[in-house]
Amino acid sequence: MTPPSSLDVARDAYRAISLYAPNREPARIDVSDNTNLWGVPPAAERAVREVGTSTVTRYPSLYAPQLKAALADYLGVEPSMIVTGCGSDDVLDSAIRAFAEPGDRVAVPAPSFAMIPIFARMNGVEPVTVALTGACDVDADAMLATEARIIYLCSPNNPTGNALSRAAVERIVREAPGVVIVDEAYAEFSAAPSAVDFLGAHERLLVSRTMSKAFGLAGLRVGYAAGAPALVAEVEKSRGPYKINALAERAAVAALRDDMAWVRDHVAEAVANRERLSGELRALGLAPVPSEANFVLAPTPRGVALARRMRELGVAVRAFDDLGRDVPAFREAGGQGLRISVGPWAAMAETLAVLQTALGEL
Ligand code: PMP
Repeated sequence: MTPPSSLDVARDAYRAISLYAPNREPARIDVSDNTNLWGVPPAAERAVREVGTSTVTRYPSLYAPQLKAALADYLGVEPSMIVTGCGSDDVLDSAIRAFAEPGDRVAVPAPSFAMIPIFARMNGVEPVTVALTGACDVDADAMLATEARIIYLCSPNNPTGNALSRAAVERIVREAPGVVIVDEAYAEFSAAPSAVDFLGAHERLLVSRTMSKAFGLAGLRVGYAAGAPALVAEVEKSRGPYKINALAERAAVAALRDDMAWVRDHVAEAVANRERLSGELRALGLAPVPSEANFVLAPTPRGVALARRMRELGVAVRAFDDLGRDVPAFREAGGQGLRISVGPWAAMAETLAVLQTALGEL
């Protein structure tokens, strides 16, 4: 007897989902995934090296109370307002599952974080995309008009890098019929005020953050969100127990308690290098979107071809071919662009040299 194909047994909604598979082949310089190219902060690294056997053989805490306490201090909120997860991916996925029934809709700006439509489908929820405006800002009227059960916003937005306007975010938070998620994975690199400020007045707002970027812990998978205690309690139910592993909790707490000077210094260097990189890209004839994150997006009709050639030359950047022709900033580029993560200047200089070579050839 032949075994049934996976499609015969999988949920219907899963037919529209493919595995998330960006090119992760090692490259001499990898500026493709917006992680911290300066490395791991020292106290977190010590915590990883010094982990004992008992930490590994026993289960971790159910809901990471020590980490919640450290994150609450960091954000200036109560520990009861924090939910953690295995990366902010896990928090976002859990939040969609917690607040939308199968068949409901989640409104997502386009372009924005590519995983959100995937998490929506994984939960039987329909993603509805709304194009960004001319300035790569969120179209508040169109987002609200979807009447979606969940509205997702990302500020600074990945992959454009700009922060969304505060007035638009505040209006959506005030008027949305359901839950609003503001993904602030890149908040540390931005001068724009955080949506955390709105939490006191809005009980259906969830602000998600991560330790994968400014804190350099992407491999340990530590994400979190802040919201009203009743709201985060629902996300926690949906997330389930034991999702922060014991090693990750120790390293993350060490970073929050002892590495803030390291984090601040490297964020400052990232911001300075981001401005310098943007200037160099303009000098090469590109028009990068003004960024508030640790990466820069340069729309170009040759984005995919340039990235392919740059990888042959040892530098991995992230190419996009689906930025959206209906977004004015990307129309001329046919929806294509290159996203370059910001790191130490030596890596930026080599990236720029390889980009210049590729531009000259194509
Ligand atoms: N949100 C945004 C906007 C991101 O760019 C990323 C990482 N690419 C994440 C969330 C997920 O980060 P993590 O799961 O590592 O916390």
